[in-house]
Amino acid sequence: MPARILDGTKIANDIRSEVAAEVKALTSAGVRPGLAVILVGHNPASEVYVRGKVKASEEVGVYSEQHTPPEAATTAELLTLVEDLNRRDEIDGILVQLPLPPHVDSKKVLMAVDPAKDVDGFHPVNVGLLSTQRPGLAPCTPAGVIEILKRSEIPISGQEAVVVGRSDIVGKPAAMLLLNASATVTVCHSKTRDLWSVCRRADILIAAIGRAGMITRDFVKPGATVIDVGMNKVTDPAEFHRLFGGGLASGWAGNAKREETFRKKGSALVGDVHPEVAEVAGALTPVPGGVGPLTIAMLMYNTLKAAKLRRVRRMPELTSK
Ligand code: NAP
Repeated sequence: MPARILDGTKIANDIRSEVAAEVKALTSAGVRPGLAVILVGHNPASEVYVRGKVKASEEVGVYSEQHTPPEAATTAELLTLVEDLNRRDEIDGILVQLPLPPHVDSKKVLMAVDPAKDVDGFHPVNVGLLSTQRPGLAPCTPAGVIEILKRSEIPISGQEAVVVGRSDIVGKPAAMLLLNASATVTVCHSKTRDLWSVCRRADILIAAIGRAGMITRDFVKPGATVIDVGMNKVTDPAEFHRLFGGGLASGWAGNAKREETFRKKGSALVGDVHPEVAEVAGALTPVPGGVGPLTIAMLMYNTLKAAKLRRVRRMPELTSK
């Protein structure tokens, strides 16, 4: 039986609606959550991401503002901007869009963000809060993975979870969130021996690698839940054919449409999981339309959470409700 396809777009829309309702209630109580986005220079991909974040803020009622220093901005100038945003009470979240220009000390700029406003959840203080299970801000994409699992009623506690990828922004926090939810977690990376056999133990397999279609059916235990975090741009027609060429895969997730889009655009967005995995997994997130939409939804969730943790806590008339 083909895998149940976990609809990330629907889950993300549900989260956005819930956030919008809470933002509305907070705003009428005098606390409108606010997000500041810093976009340095003119990176076309970053501009698209930032537009998406600002649009999402408008849709859920979060106040947002964009700061667009020129490409030549220095580390010192960016630090001054971040410190100014740290001081402003009405700004709950500060997001520094990466990558920063090469002459800028990115780590220094990210470390300057007040951890209470670090809606990306990358600051070491938030990493520590996550690993000690204290209230803080978790990175958006891995937090979205957990939302997909929970809202799809896929049990986590006691399950064998394998995360492929150990980056600070996806793999490691995903592993920590799964551990906090009482899964038995294994983290794999490029030096892992017999990767496929480790993956095959998983009841929940998370692929966060950055290699198109690397997780083939041999890596997957029949009936397992597979979460595909990968977002890879494929431009080579032979590679496209390897991924979408045959079997059930050819009829899955609108492949005719994919092929048409590939022919028109000359590229396709592909996950780390080979489409043939749909033949063996019990549940699977598609790409696009799986984990991707959750990232911005969780950014909105984090902005609301930051406002609640920092500002509402100071207002007993709101916290007692
Ligand atoms: P990353 O920093 O490049 O990390 C990739 C990880 O995969 C590393 O830990 C690496 O191991 C491991 N890896 C690479 N090749 C491997 C192999 N052959 N076997 C086993 N492990 C291997 O990437 P990332 O930032 O975590 O992102 C991962 C993917 O998620 C990318 O496709 C990215 O575009 C996507 N992503 C999606 C979203 C979203 O919103 N959906 C958000 C963020 C990222 P080593 O540590 O040993 O090098």
